[in-house]
Amino acid sequence: MKKYNFSPGPAVIPSSVLREASEALIDFNGMGLSIAEISHRAPQFIDVIEEATSLVKELYQLSDDFEVIWTDGGASTQLALAPMNLVNSGESIAIADTGYWAIKAINAASPFCNVHVLATSNDTNYDRIPKDWELPKDTQYLHVVSNETIDGTQYHDYPTVPVPIVADMTSDFLTRPLPLHKFSLIFASAQKNFGLAGTTCLIIRKDILNKKLNHIVPTIFDYKTMIEQKSLYHTIPTFPVYVAMLTLRWTKAQGGVTEMHRRNKEKSTLLYNEIDKNPYFSGSVVAEDRSMMNVCFRANNQQIENSFLDFAEKNGIVGIKGFPTVGGFRASIYNAMPLESVQFLVDVMQKFNP
Ligand SMILES: *Cc1c(COP(=O)(O)O)cnc(C)c1O
Repeated sequence: MKKYNFSPGPAVIPSSVLREASEALIDFNGMGLSIAEISHRAPQFIDVIEEATSLVKELYQLSDDFEVIWTDGGASTQLALAPMNLVNSGESIAIADTGYWAIKAINAASPFCNVHVLATSNDTNYDRIPKDWELPKDTQYLHVVSNETIDGTQYHDYPTVPVPIVADMTSDFLTRPLPLHKFSLIFASAQKNFGLAGTTCLIIRKDILNKKLNHIVPTIFDYKTMIEQKSLYHTIPTFPVYVAMLTLRWTKAQGGVTEMHRRNKEKSTLLYNEIDKNPYFSGSVVAEDRSMMNVCFRANNQQIENSFLDFAEKNGIVGIKGFPTVGGFRASIYNAMPLESVQFLVDVMQKFNP
């Protein structure tokens, strides 16, 4: 039976990318060697990582003020490395508590600096992005969770603040054009919008690294090392970088971030319209903050929830159970999710008769 994969991450990958990657895993470009068994310093791999870098620069039209870095350890690592590289102990950063990944960021940064928690929507189960706050004057940067993957909210306009923004864009990287002047650091793990778990892409505005720090940053964790060594200070996860490069090529061929944005709006609108119309379901998030990537919704009661999960599974729908602490449903519809699959989910919701 055909499967419709709504998993939150690792998530759906374009089938053309999977096919090409599987061929390269056996024989890369007719070398008689697997992409996974050549050196990360071999010229053939350098070509791959350089192409991946230039595709990110091209897709976002980055100026020379920015560097693109490939690393490992996931976005979770960057939640600690960003404050470690950017602020001194005793200085402050600020975060609006938008949910699961904001709390992770607060906890990861707290050993390094003061964290101003600007506001929270915890009291309404993170059904919105708190926007009513004032930035304390001593703030060095604002950390933003661009898209809360678990709670299903997304910034549709980034805050306007007099300090740089550090953005965890793991679940909405490459999904729309960006106001780049607002950001000093963007990071994203690959497994949601551009490939496999194992590599993380960083966009760093170079001038933020000029600051004199009063603590030691271990060489391997230092953004300056990563830039100087062109992401190759140690053995990068080569195959995930290769798949990221293929997915970036795919993204460009589809029409780039503008076209991704158009499709993501179309897909999410289709699904939210059904949720709002269907008598058995309701959306978990207020309309203005709804995510285009992770569509969270609930059934009217537990019995309907269970029977829809069962019905969806029988129809080949995978990965729509909500996060354990949140419950309900979450349909993750990243860049590689075709409109037809979202339409299929909508059809199944319409056929559902508990
Ligand atoms: C998935 C996700 C992460 C974690 O990524 P890892 O690769 O598991 O470290 C961090 N932030 C957000 C917003 C995510 O969606």
